[in-house]
Amino acid sequence: MHFNELNLSQELIRAVEELGFTEMTEIQQQSIPPLLEGNDVIGRSNTGTGKTAAFGIPAVESVTDADKNNTTVLILCPTRELAMQAHEEIRKFAKYKKIVKAVSVYGGASMEKQIHELKRGANIVIGTPGRVMDHMRRKTLKLNNLRCIILDEADEMLNMGFREDIESILSDVPEERQTVLFSATMPPAILAITEKYQKNPIHIKIKSAQKTVELIEQFYFEVAMGRKTDALKLLLAAYSPSSAMVFCNTKKMVDDLTEELIKAGFRASGIHGDMKQSQRTQVMNAFKNRAVEILVATDVAARGIDVTGVDAVFNYDLPQDNEYYIHRIGRTGRAGRTGTAYTLISGRKQFYELREIEKYTKATIQEKSLPTKSEIVAVKKDNIINEITGIDNVSHEAYSILDRLAEMGIDYREAAARIISGKLNAEIEALPEFEHSRPLKKGRKGAKTVKVDINIGRNKRIAPNFILGALVDATGMSGRDFGKIDIFDTHTTVEIPENETEYILDSTNPMKINGNQVEVKLYTGAVREIRGKRPDSKDKPKFDRRSRAYGNRKKSEVYSDYIPNRKKRVKNKH
Ligand code: ADP
Ligand code: MG
Repeated sequence: MHFNELNLSQELIRAVEELGFTEMTEIQQQSIPPLLEGNDVIGRSNTGTGKTAAFGIPAVESVTDADKNNTTVLILCPTRELAMQAHEEIRKFAKYKKIVKAVSVYGGASMEKQIHELKRGANIVIGTPGRVMDHMRRKTLKLNNLRCIILDEADEMLNMGFREDIESILSDVPEERQTVLFSATMPPAILAITEKYQKNPIHIKIKSAQKTVELIEQFYFEVAMGRKTDALKLLLAAYSPSSAMVFCNTKKMVDDLTEELIKAGFRASGIHGDMKQSQRTQVMNAFKNRAVEILVATDVAARGIDVTGVDAVFNYDLPQDNEYYIHRIGRTGRAGRTGTAYTLISGRKQFYELREIEKYTKATIQEKSLPTKSEIVAVKKDNIINEITGIDNVSHEAYSILDRLAEMGIDYREAAARIISGKLNAEIEALPEFEHSRPLKKGRKGAKTVKVDINIGRNKRIAPNFILGALVDATGMSGRDFGKIDIFDTHTTVEIPENETEYILDSTNPMKINGNQVEVKLYTGAVREIRGKRPDSKDKPKFDRRSRAYGNRKKSEVYSDYIPNRKKRVKNKH
């Protein structure tokens, strides 16, 4: 459905056309008509689906010539950035409707300036709950003529502890009014607000979890514990995105990671709720105009921020909520573009959490192995070639330098090679080292193996996948690095590569399997023989039947199937 099929005024049609909007998004199609009629609406739709226009267009349309000095529409947003962004978009819709005056009010900015703007007459006010309350208390914002109140990103406002403020504002505005609520998720607290403050609201739910992420390619990387930062540096170097967002779960992680990335020479900046407003605006602007290539952010700070052209999203930490995953990766692939999302996971727990996310979002998140140094070098070479072929204004001075060098015995080819290797080395030296181990089974012929013994067995209802999972988790090695697993009544033996014995014993003590603290030792079957004690019949490994069920494959191969997609091992070389 086109915007011009709506019964909008000429002024709005023209402004919307100028913005390049033709087709309405789903949420817009379903919510604009009832909103124009004055209904209460509760709309649920994912980030990036055009909710601002869904409520902003009817809001602008509702302002009449009689409203010159009255605030008739109030829009509440969770953060200053979102308030500014909504304000900007509404100003665009109102471009040809001169009677509309939109003013935004939020904390961290000059109160005087806001008071001054409000005094000059504002029919649409956009603000954060705290600052709106503040202006209401000072009577610098009068809402006795309010006809419409809109709660944008309502779930986030509740998450941020604005519930009391919101309820207090809702109880203070005229009862005869339109109440509109937009949210990406619908937790019970929102439904409670709806029940209390909305009148026969029209529920609109756009099932677009897949839709918004459809154009986004999703990958994950398994990284050894403690190596996520290095892995991220490697990925950033390999993919060299011109605009990327990296998500962390805590403010401290944002700060630490940003510092690490800057040290490694990336143009990175962090953004989170503890920063001053002026700093945040500065960072956002730098990211928008590409002065900053990598924005490291917390979920709340990044919520709803609308930057187009983000090439890639990296989940440094797994999101704490499945919905957040969708919001995060929705930062890329906006407005019909394609994008890529990468998630870093360490350990078995995160692996299963990722599987949960996959189920929840119905998306496919493919495993990828970290790029090797030689792959990155190949990319860098291409980059240098592109860079050099792109230069079209070579100065005469350059040739004169080359001539002088030639006189000194350094010919053109040698001079160019020296310059290029300087460039290449600078980039490559900064890359972290990852060792990609050779898989045991595919290893060179005759790769030596030994066995370790783990003091847990059938009596604790242990299955091979528990053992393998715990080993993979503790060592950061791949499931394929481990060989045959034999489970006995009270203990288990596992075949391991001999040259990794020390490392494996080191990293598996302590280790827990299925909640049981276990001890891992080098297996010395010889001890049994010396004692002359043959294992009794009960002490035979189980699972023979199962291995037959898998045909001719060796037991170790069968066990490796329990943890698929684990191929590469990354291990600190140092
Ligand atoms: P949300 O609030 O749902 O996260 P936004 O309102 O921020 O989404 O919109 C996301 C982007 O899509 C913005 O850049 C906006 O200008 C653009 N957009 C919104 N509606 C349309 C439309 N009908 N056609 C094209 N682009 C649109
Ligand atoms: Mg929004």
